[in-house]
Amino acid sequence: MTIFAEHHHLFRAAVRAFVDREVAPQIEAWEAAGRIPKSIWPRMGALGFLGVEYDEKYGGGGADLFTTVVLHEECARSRSGSFAMAVGVHTDMASPHLYWTGSEALKEKYLPAICRGEKLCAIAVTEPGGGSDVAAIRTRAARDGDHYVLNGSKMFITNGALADLYFVAARVEAGDAAQRHRGISMFLVERETPGFTVGRTLDKTGMRASDTAELSFQDVRLPTSHLLGREGVGFYEVMRVFQRERLVAGVHAVAMAERALEDTIAYVRERQAFGGPLSEKQVVRHKLADLATLIEAGKRLTYAAWQKHAAGDDAVREASMVKLFTAEMANRVAYDCVQLHGGYGYMREYAIERFARDVRLFTIGGGTSEIMKEIIAKELRL
Ligand SMILES: Cc1cc2nc3c(=O)[nH]c(=O)nc-3n(C[C@H](O)[C@H](O)[C@H](O)COP(=O)(O)OP(=O)(O)OC[C@H]3O[C@@H](n4cnc5c(N)ncnc54)[C@H](O)[C@@H]3O)c2cc1C
Repeated sequence: MTIFAEHHHLFRAAVRAFVDREVAPQIEAWEAAGRIPKSIWPRMGALGFLGVEYDEKYGGGGADLFTTVVLHEECARSRSGSFAMAVGVHTDMASPHLYWTGSEALKEKYLPAICRGEKLCAIAVTEPGGGSDVAAIRTRAARDGDHYVLNGSKMFITNGALADLYFVAARVEAGDAAQRHRGISMFLVERETPGFTVGRTLDKTGMRASDTAELSFQDVRLPTSHLLGREGVGFYEVMRVFQRERLVAGVHAVAMAERALEDTIAYVRERQAFGGPLSEKQVVRHKLADLATLIEAGKRLTYAAWQKHAAGDDAVREASMVKLFTAEMANRVAYDCVQLHGGYGYMREYAIERFARDVRLFTIGGGTSEIMKEIIAKELRL
C-alpha cells in the first residue's frame, strides 16, 4: 500500500536533507537547553514546510494531506521527538483552528506569518484541574460588548514558553450538565495581550527540547473577532482538530519506532556475545521480527485512517484507534529496543534512551490511551 506519488518523494527528500543538515546535529544542544531556538521556524517557513496544506493566498503550499504525512514522518525520523512535536503543534494541532474556523480577516492577518515561521503557535486546552475531561474546562470567556474577557489557567502547553499565538479553549456559558460541551469555544490570543502571562516552564521526563509551560489569563480582553468558529459549538470544532492531532501523533509514533528499530538492528549486527553477533541469536531475531510486524501494523492502520480523513469522511473511530495502537506500540518498541542495547540502552549518549523517554508521552498527551478506548467503545455503541 502506498499513498505517495512522485511529488511526495521529492518533498520527502527536501525535508530529509534539511533535517540531516540543520536538525540532527543540534539535537543534543537543544535537549540540554530545554528549548528549540526560534530561528528554526523562519528557516522552515522559507523552505515551505509550515502550512503545507494552507491556501497559497495565505502563504501556504496548497498541497494535499499526504504531504503533511511526509513532513511529520521526516521530522519524527530526526530522532528528536521534541522537534517533531513542536512542528506538529504549530502546523496541525494549533493553527488549523484558525485555518478551518477563523474569519477571513483573521486568516489574512495571521496565516502568512504562521506560514513564514514568524509567529509560533500553541494550543491550550488542558487545565491544572484536568485534561481528559475537556468539557469540564473552567477557563471562562465572558462577553462584554464587543469584547470577550478571559479568566483562567492552562497546563502542560507545548510551545507554551516561546509561542506568539495561543489557541485557547474557554467556556462562554455555564450550560447544564447535558449541554456542557456546547459552552466551549476557541479564542486566538496574542502573546502580548495584557493580562496574559506565560508561567513557569515545566521540567519533564522526555521531550526535553520541547518547551512546556503553564499559562494564566487574568481579565484578558479580546475583540469578539478573536472567537474562532461559532460561539457555543467550539467543542465540536476542537474535536475535529483533535482528530487531526491524533492522526499526526500516529505518524510520529510509527516513524520514531521505525527509526529506533533501524538503530537497534544496526546495533545487534555489531554487538558480539558468545562468539558471534547478537543478530544471530534466534531470540533476538524473533524479537525484532515481532517489533517490525507491530510497526508495520501501526503504519497501515495510520495510512488507512489518513486516507479516510483525506476523503472528508468522519474518522473519529479510526483516529482514536491509530492513537491508541501506535502509542502503545511505540512504548513496546522502546522497551524491547532498550533491552537489546543492554547497558548502553540506559546511557544518555545513545539515541535509543531518549526515544524511550520521548515516546512515554504518547499514551498520555493528546488524549490518553484510556480516553481513546472510551471513544472507541462509544463508537461501538457500548
Ligand atoms: C509533555 C506534555 C505536553 C502536552 N501538550 C499539551 C498541549 O500542547 N496542549 C494541551 O492542551 N494539552 C497538552 N498536554 C496535556 C495532555 O493532553 C493531558 O496531560 C492529557 O490529556 C491527560 O490529562 P491529565 O494530565 O489532566 O490527566 P487526567 O485527565 O487527570 O487523567 C489521569 C489518568 O486518569 C485516566 N482517566 C481519566 N478519565 C478517565 C476515564 N473516564 N476512564 C478511565 N480512565 C480515565 C487517564 O487516562 C489518566 O491515566 C500535554 C501534556 C504533556 C505531559
